[in-house]
Amino acid sequence: MRAAFFRTFGGPEVLEIGEAPEPVVARGTVIVGVRAVALNHLDLWVRRGIPGLDLELPHIGGSDVSGVIEEVGSEVEGWTVGDRVAVNPGLWCGFCSFCEAGEESLCRSFQILGEHVAGGTADRVRVPAVNLFRIPDSLNFESAAAAPLVYQTAWRAVNNRARVSAGDTLLVTGGSGGVSTAAIQIGKHLGARVVALTSGAENVLRCAALGADIVLDRLETDLVAEIRAITDGSGVDAIVDSVGEALWDDCLLCLRSNGRLVTYGATTGARVSLDIRHVFWNQLQVIGTTMSSRNEFEAVMRLVADGELRPVIDSILPLERIREAHEALESGEVFGKLVLVP
Ligand SMILES: [Zn+2]
Repeated sequence: MRAAFFRTFGGPEVLEIGEAPEPVVARGTVIVGVRAVALNHLDLWVRRGIPGLDLELPHIGGSDVSGVIEEVGSEVEGWTVGDRVAVNPGLWCGFCSFCEAGEESLCRSFQILGEHVAGGTADRVRVPAVNLFRIPDSLNFESAAAAPLVYQTAWRAVNNRARVSAGDTLLVTGGSGGVSTAAIQIGKHLGARVVALTSGAENVLRCAALGADIVLDRLETDLVAEIRAITDGSGVDAIVDSVGEALWDDCLLCLRSNGRLVTYGATTGARVSLDIRHVFWNQLQVIGTTMSSRNEFEAVMRLVADGELRPVIDSILPLERIREAHEALESGEVFGKLVLVP
């Protein structure tokens, strides 16, 4: 089959299109004919080489897949050839204490499709049947591929980890990113007042169009002063952030007492400092999150399938242009998702 892969770690130039071995169906799995695959920042980290992640090369990336079932393995029930599906990229063992408790993203051997195992930048990919989500005809393959990773991450971050509820004020940083655009929509869906932080006049308009009540331009705003002004001096109830180092101190100062700072990424750096007096006196919570449980994935995908949440797609390109897509994502000049079509 045709696939995009890399044989060595490095920049976008290591990506190539070529022939790769066909995936072989196994017990409990299906082969999905890929119709669309969306990129994530994770694809960039994997291509550059993640310290400690021992990958077999060549590696096929791509975590976010939609397509049509082409083969069904033994012991798979409820799925047949021809079904239209989106794929949950989380991979879990199914029998550790976290999996038994329905907390799959805390699984002791948690992995991600396209990171630890061959992903979807290819004609076909093998996935566990428990990872399938049936998509209605009203949802096209591009939108279905744009949703799984970012919507499950945003759903768990906003709903479960930040515990955002109606009337809360939620600050979403890095407003143009895939998870952030999902988090803005989810915050509104849960009845929160959403403040988005982004950069540039065009992104300000785009975040407002997604439903953000207030959009701040990072390049023109004193974030802490502005947040105080719009919250009568008290600060926001919750923040979901993947910017990391560059915004960390400001984020902590933007929280009201009992506020929650939920971190799911570190695009500007991962080393931060913390004045624990500020944390304990204001009873702040710093909470990590990654991916989601199977139930959370299905809950948020149902909202996407019903049209309640709408994936934001920056552009759709043929798989052959994957280098260009990686370069664009790396440049930071992308709003929403880049989707590749094999
Ligand atoms: Zn497990």
